[in-house]
Amino acid sequence: MPADYHTHTPLCRHAEGEPEAFVDAALAAGVTEYGISDHAPVLPEPFDDWRMDDAEFPDYLAWIERARRHAGDRLPIRTGLECDWLPGCEGWIEALAARSDWDYLIGSVHYLGDWDFDNPKWLGRWQHEDLDTLWGRYWKTYAEMAESGLFDILGHPDLIKKFAHRPDGDLDRFYEPAIERIAASGCAIELNTAGRHKPCAEAYPAPRFLELARQAGIPLVISSDAHAPAEVARDFPEAIGIAKAAGYTETLLFEKRLRTTEAL
Ligand SMILES: [Zn+2]
Ligand SMILES: [Zn+2]
Repeated sequence: MPADYHTHTPLCRHAEGEPEAFVDAALAAGVTEYGISDHAPVLPEPFDDWRMDDAEFPDYLAWIERARRHAGDRLPIRTGLECDWLPGCEGWIEALAARSDWDYLIGSVHYLGDWDFDNPKWLGRWQHEDLDTLWGRYWKTYAEMAESGLFDILGHPDLIKKFAHRPDGDLDRFYEPAIERIAASGCAIELNTAGRHKPCAEAYPAPRFLELARQAGIPLVISSDAHAPAEVARDFPEAIGIAKAAGYTETLLFEKRLRTTEAL
């Protein structure tokens, strides 16, 4: 089973489970490696209520060490972080990158302006949005994140579909320009199975996006985005099938921000 690199800890305030339970779940699933990538702090604080505080950062590294101690030589535990791509965040991401010996950093677009559009708290806002404009803005932001060169992995590529709001017509008009820019950046994308359990009822990204990404040579990881031990490596057999159908034959492994490949 491929590595699962996108997973969370209770420090983000919307996940649950002890490090030992997450590691046990990863061992039971038979993943090659287990990586922890909780929501990074964002300054100035307080910045929303769904991430660790900057003061908790040492607790985060201690949580990962506890997982590593429990895993022992049974499973490699990787140290990661899921960072929010926000206007002007580059200096902050560089500061975070220097704080630890990361195996990888995930970049994610959860915000457009001040709106964390994937938060169910703001569902009412969708009815005031023009989907074509919003999707255009999302993919432009996503491509800019890739081009920043700050991240190893780009999180949940089409998260904007989470609540099943998709513009009419062929979505290639959004996918193609973004894929061209992502491919040029050299970043990997993830096939994130959490979307299968949201209103969009489909992994992120859509199969068509994945097919175009494969053709463009964009490397892949498979992730669960687990917020509880039971979600570790969730739907990985189905995800392997989806990745293979798009033409992928391998996924990436990361150690100290260097990549190797593993056959699917
Ligand atoms: Zn989360
Ligand atoms: Zn995310």
